[in-house]
Amino acid sequence: LMVMDPDNLSVVLHSLKDLRLEQRPIPEPGPNDVLLRMHSVGICGSDVHYWQNGRIGDFVVTKPMVLGHEASGTVVKVGSAVKTCRLVRRIHVLPDNVTFEEGALIEPLSVGIHACRRAGVTLGSIVLICGAGPIGLVSLLVAKAMGASKVVITDLSQERLSMAKKLGADYAVTITKGNAPQALAKNVADMLGAPPQITIECTGVESSIQTAIYATQSGGVVVLVGLGAEMATIPLVNAAVREIDIRGVFRYCNTWPMAIAMLASGKVNVKPLAFETTKQGLGIKVMIKCDKNDQNP
Ligand code: NAD
Ligand code: ZN
Repeated sequence: LMVMDPDNLSVVLHSLKDLRLEQRPIPEPGPNDVLLRMHSVGICGSDVHYWQNGRIGDFVVTKPMVLGHEASGTVVKVGSAVKTCRLVRRIHVLPDNVTFEEGALIEPLSVGIHACRRAGVTLGSIVLICGAGPIGLVSLLVAKAMGASKVVITDLSQERLSMAKKLGADYAVTITKGNAPQALAKNVADMLGAPPQITIECTGVESSIQTAIYATQSGGVVVLVGLGAEMATIPLVNAAVREIDIRGVFRYCNTWPMAIAMLASGKVNVKPLAFETTKQGLGIKVMIKCDKNDQNP
């Protein structure tokens, strides 16, 4: 028999570089709420950014903020008006064959789904993805699942590119600082035999946005997922005269049901992104396991 102390250990960012682990009271669910016992929580680049910079753009940390928006867990208590979890907004039930870790990866996966929808990826699309961080990699997984015939991915890091190859990238391009965007664009076209119709930019780095525009076929689409400096110098006239559509992405909407269906059916496999990989020294996504009695994926 295992007896558990009620425990709500939380990661709280008080202000710039002041991150604390502290116990917080367990909240009482309101009539339409459910209480979740957290199981797996992914660490997002934005969590690290808030910790290191105290802000992201206009969002400034002014009061203590509990981190962790990539999460999954078990309903342990329901409010008086709750009859079924399917009716509680923002709760999505995981099928038995989807692990908690996969559940926690739905949030970043959703960014990839939204980016590929905005890009119009479809059967046979030829896609360039700039950056093989978690967001570039989920975009790769989704693009392949949506039927992209060829995906080229770029990064500075060899480890990240090997992971991308493992996840289905057809070609990987190692970038070195100082590579000229136009030369890179030509490399990509030579590799594919034609320029990509779609480029999904997942670094936010100015030179990479430049490459994204130069590399994309005339009449194609560049989706800006990466968020970098407020102002950037980009080849705007080149984009204009070649009728490149530049589209933004802000997170996602209505992606959870699709993500769950794709994970449950095995059409998308996010498992290699999670903690096991970190143990092997190929960190992509660090997962925090919250339940002392269940450390399984
Ligand atoms: P990350 O920092 O882990 O990954 C970025 C990758 O880009 C790294 O692997 C890095 O080596 C690579 N890179 C850097 N310079 C490069 C270059 N010149 N060419 C090619 N690759 C280069 O970040 P992430 O978590 O994968 O997120 C990627 C970006 O997406 C970030 O800018 C993040 O802020 C943004 N983001 C946007 C949204 C949105 O809603 N628009 C949502 C989530 C994340
Ligand atoms: Zn996030």
